Amino acid sequence: VRWSATRGWHDAEVVPYAPLTMDPAMVGLHYGQIVFEGLKAYRQPDGSIAAFRAADHARRLQRSAARLAMPEPPVELFLDALAELAAADRRWAPSVESQSLYLRPILYATETTLALRPATEYRFLALAMVTEAFFGEGAPPVSVWAGTRWVRAATGGTGEAKCAGNYAAGLAAQVEAGAHGCRQVVWLDAAEHRWVEEMGGMNIFFVYGDRLVTPPLSGTILPGVTRASVLALAPELGLTVEERQVTLAQWQADCRSGAMTEAFACGTAALITSIGRVVTESGEIPVGETSGPVANRLGVALADIQRGRVPDRHGWRHQLTGP
Ligand code: PMP
Repeated sequence: VRWSATRGWHDAEVVPYAPLTMDPAMVGLHYGQIVFEGLKAYRQPDGSIAAFRAADHARRLQRSAARLAMPEPPVELFLDALAELAAADRRWAPSVESQSLYLRPILYATETTLALRPATEYRFLALAMVTEAFFGEGAPPVSVWAGTRWVRAATGGTGEAKCAGNYAAGLAAQVEAGAHGCRQVVWLDAAEHRWVEEMGGMNIFFVYGDRLVTPPLSGTILPGVTRASVLALAPELGLTVEERQVTLAQWQADCRSGAMTEAFACGTAALITSIGRVVTESGEIPVGETSGPVANRLGVALADIQRGRVPDRHGWRHQLTGP
């Protein structure tokens, strides 16, 4: 679908997966006016395909677009695009339980100009690919690196938006994490490098027995749809939830004292993944050698809704195709 200041949204089409052509002076390429979403659709027991919380992802794309002074794709346009895509994508053979259809809607500026101002022409498109579970079912907990050299987001920046630049800015830290034997990055706040914010592509939760703690949406972390789902599911499992800030030092102390029983990350790709150890500049915090029981229960509760094994009591399944 294309958007121009004069015509609005127009020229919707479904085409076979193929390279795009772009002008070398395309605004998105130079100034990073690019926002996107990542969501998953799952084969349901009746054979249909349903996307998880698609309208919530559509609304987050709208907020991301607004932050980057881009036009906001209407929710209906977003949902229709995904339905057409799911119906057209014949490559998906979702016979395996661990598989899902990862959907990647993206909006970017196509206008040809080197002028530094919001573009007047955009393209919104969505692509789909079959994925296996990100860390693999039953995989060991993930190790994470908490460094202070770089920050992901500062107050007033784009941390709350799902824009391409945020990810580009995080890649060096991802490489650094690898050099420290870790698979993921834990981001700390930009001002003091003390407060735990989120991870490279996931939000974070700390477990204190039957109490969950997660950093509040401060404007510098991405409001994860999975995070919101965990907050909604937790009380149903007898867990209380608290949105409050936690420092890296507190994390360490609470692990040592045994008050913190688990920590886990959550996101569309990772679902719910336990954190095994945190490596910091001053040493290592062992968190847990195996997946935690609370993370496991939440993971099952989430997957049951996503894969249609239980009634959709929250209205989270958005039907993309019929049976
Ligand atoms: N934080 C960041 C930086 C992310 O990229 C993601 C993945 N979109 C998340 C958190 C988790 O968000 P969601 O649950 O909506 O996938």
